[in-house]
Amino acid sequence: MDGFQNRGAVVTGGASGIGLATATEFARRGARLVLADVDKPGLEQAVARLNADGFEAHGVSCDVRHLDEVTHLADEAFRVLGQVDVVFSNAGIVVAGPLAEMTHDDWRWVIDIDLWGSIHAVEAFLPRLLEQGTGGHIAFTASFAGLVPNAGLGTYCVAKYGVVGLAETLAREVKDNGIGVSVLCPMVVETKLVSNSERIRGADYGLSATPDLAAPGGLPAQDDTLNVDDVARLTADAIEANRLYVLPHEAARASIRRRFERIESAFEAQAAAGWRH
Ligand code: NAD
Repeated sequence: MDGFQNRGAVVTGGASGIGLATATEFARRGARLVLADVDKPGLEQAVARLNADGFEAHGVSCDVRHLDEVTHLADEAFRVLGQVDVVFSNAGIVVAGPLAEMTHDDWRWVIDIDLWGSIHAVEAFLPRLLEQGTGGHIAFTASFAGLVPNAGLGTYCVAKYGVVGLAETLAREVKDNGIGVSVLCPMVVETKLVSNSERIRGADYGLSATPDLAAPGGLPAQDDTLNVDDVARLTADAIEANRLYVLPHEAARASIRRRFERIESAFEAQAAAGWRH
């Protein structure tokens, strides 16, 4: 995409963390914003801060679990911005713990937000971007856990692998319409993801099984936790350059390579066992 100047950009999960930092980076590059979030006070604060800094930003309360709310977000975004060029489907939560301990509610909670949230963004925005006919860009926040198995994050991995598959397929399908696609797959970024996830889970899904992710058995300790503003800059750069994969952590590279080596080695093992087709 040819820069952010005067582009209309919509960011879900825009009240905090990666969403807010990336929206701010889009605005610094000249974009006009609609931020969407389920956290209404957080959303109001974020919009007020952006406005105080001289940026055009509007807030739309939206729970990405519900298609009608994401459709309403699209209606509002096209109404207030006139044109939408960039959609960043980023809202998300994390659920952690071994698969054997996951409740059905844990599964529903993470799939409803982390996978359905991005599917809803495609359902609500893609037909309108195609109809608009001026290209644009759709970006998603998946995770490193969407590219390699992370023991202790199985439910989250299932949702985020889905988001990576969605982005990869979409990229092929909309290329000829001038619509770029990116998928952000970070390891640990400094945000309030864990505490926010606990806070917004709500009674619909029962008590969270998510343990303290910093505790032994939680997320592996990492000494290359990244600052959210650096991730935001890389994401905005990737959108401008139309790069599909956004991989902020160099440490992810070896694990990704090993996954593909493990897949490839299955062919050799089968051939050695006499499989010929
Ligand atoms: P965050 O909690 O700071 O931001 C997430 C935002 O999404 C919050 O403002 C929250 O209110 C919002 N949100 C949650 N559920 C929502 C819903 N149903 N509808 C609308 N908004 C909702 O955390 P973050 O780390 O910035 O998370 C952003 C994305 O990054 C998530 O998809 C997360 O899975 C992903 N991610 C984060 C990390 C990390 O280490 N922080 C690593 C990999 C991927």
